[in-house]
Amino acid sequence: MHVRLLTGGVAAACLMSLCLTGGQVASAAPHTSDAPQAARVVTYDASGSAEFRSAVDRGAAIWNESVDAVELRPVATGQRANIRVLADNGWPRALPTTLGNGTVYIGRQAVDQGYHTIRISAHELGHILGLPDRKPGPCSSLMSGSSAGTSCTNPYPNAAEKAEVEGNFGGELAGQAPAVRAGVIVD
Ligand SMILES: [Zn+2]
Repeated sequence: MHVRLLTGGVAAACLMSLCLTGGQVASAAPHTSDAPQAARVVTYDASGSAEFRSAVDRGAAIWNESVDAVELRPVATGQRANIRVLADNGWPRALPTTLGNGTVYIGRQAVDQGYHTIRISAHELGHILGLPDRKPGPCSSLMSGSSAGTSCTNPYPNAAEKAEVEGNFGGELAGQAPAVRAGVIVD
């Protein structure tokens, strides 16, 4: 009751503080604290990736661990995926159409030469997420691809690569979708 006897200014401050507290409680509720904006879900179909399927799943999981703005999720049976992942005997490559859409080939030619299957998978998915090649580059860069050599097994994007994907999809959520060059990106 003492509070009600204090000045209007203090009472107003209390109301403000209640409002702020209420807001904090609301924002700390489950499902909203870590993701103020919902991630865009991009589905992928790895059913055609043969012996690379687990590597493709791991590559997708690495992106999910690395960025918030987009989530790669296995497509439900009978649904059309945003990304098709296929195995073939050529060189690994990606064919982006629009941001988050396209086809990836996990080419056995590179795997047979000793390149790391999870790094290949994460790299090619990176192209579908809007990243260009960064060659030549160090092993710490995912998009340096084969230029880092067969000894490089790093499947994780670096900070700049993560930020670029966050920007691509964050900008898209804000209505500023980046232009994605459609076409074939070899390796
Ligand atoms: Zn590439």
